[in-house]
Amino acid sequence: MDSCLFCKIAAGEIPSQKLYEDESVLAFRDIDPQAPVHFLVIPKQHIESCAAVTPGNSAIVAHCFEVIASLAAEQGLKDGFRVVSNCGESAGQTVPHLHFHLLSGRDMTWPPG
Ligand code: AMP
Ligand code: ZN
Repeated sequence: MDSCLFCKIAAGEIPSQKLYEDESVLAFRDIDPQAPVHFLVIPKQHIESCAAVTPGNSAIVAHCFEVIASLAAEQGLKDGFRVVSNCGESAGQTVPHLHFHLLSGRDMTWPPG
């Protein structure tokens, strides 16, 4: 998708602070961190949100979670972390390209606001 911010980041057209990259997934630091550790894991392929996950693209979603587990271990997040995916405007999604926030390094409240 030409106009998509995260497609541009995935293509390297917009710089990001990369933590992990392979042929199908990228992890990079959030530009406006909401916790001491806050990064985003995205499929390089454009999938609009959790609502657009299908049997045809769900393998990449599973791979995103493998990357999340591996980065959490690598970064020593043994006290816990939260994974969030906002789906749709009212849930707070501002970038319409599927992404998983990984937040850690502070106590979290529940339910989220
Ligand atoms: P959401 O609001 O759930 O769609 O999440 C989008 C996230 O992308 C927000 O947490 C933003 O701070 C983050 N963000 C927006 N632009 C950039 C960028 N250029 N580099 C890194 N993170 C970004
Ligand atoms: Zn995109």
